[in-house]
Amino acid sequence: MKTILITGASRGIGAQTAKLFAQNGYRVIINYCHSQKNADMLCKELKENGADVISYKADVSNPSQVSAMFGHIEEYFGGVSVLVNNAGIAQTKLFTDITDNDWNRMISTNLSSAFYCCRAALPYMIHQKYGRIINISSMWGQVGGSCEVHYSAAKAGIIGLTKALAMEEGLSGITVNCIAPGVIRTDMTSNLSNEDFRTLAEETPTGTIGTPEDIARTILFLADEKSSFITGQVIGVNGGFVV
Ligand code: NAP
Repeated sequence: MKTILITGASRGIGAQTAKLFAQNGYRVIINYCHSQKNADMLCKELKENGADVISYKADVSNPSQVSAMFGHIEEYFGGVSVLVNNAGIAQTKLFTDITDNDWNRMISTNLSSAFYCCRAALPYMIHQKYGRIINISSMWGQVGGSCEVHYSAAKAGIIGLTKALAMEEGLSGITVNCIAPGVIRTDMTSNLSNEDFRTLAEETPTGTIGTPEDIARTILFLADEKSSFITGQVIGVNGGFVV
């Protein structure tokens, strides 16, 4: 049975990914930071459906908490064969209003977290000569988003990390890929009104807004053993908003 760790799996894209992998026979580790109730409910629901799943509280922007989480995983499961670096925060601010604290929080939560988790996951993957790392970037990491400079910089960093690590790990049977979602309906986009969503959908070639399922299904595809010839790629799941 393959083991997957999904960071930020208490809500949104991460929670949907946990459900899909549990349905597909993976042992699932649901990481969360603040939303314990959501994580517990998800864990309970998946267990009731026969899945092998645990939840683990860790702030992935904190290297000691990431180390402790991987220590726990090593003790119980040996390690993870699939790592999804999904945890993230967003903030909309004029560039000139971004404080040092905003910047550091954004970079540590959205970028350094992936570094800490990859570093902790790789020894086991290298030993197994097998691994799948899937990093969640954003289309704003590809093209830049106005009033989201710190978010865009962190997400562009995820793309650089993905490409360079893919080069380094190719011969170890480990693929490293990145998904760049477009606008997806989750708590992260709950500040958008129905009117905003309508306008965004009209500006999207498919005429639709994305769902967490759209991203989860792409993660499942990249995690498949048979997806071994795909590495270092940025897969846009955005309805054609950015091509
Ligand atoms: P969401 O609904 O706001 O969920 C964010 C998740 O990240 C939550 O489970 C949250 O857990 C977790 N998280 C935040 N900070 C954390 C930390 N320090 N340590 C551990 N977990 C942490 O967001 P989402 O829309 O599902 O986004 C998931 C990923 O997709 C993010 O990386 C986001 O940037 C990316 N993305 C989203 C969109 C979109 O339109 N929604 C578009 C492009 C990219 P707790 O609540 O437990 O803290």
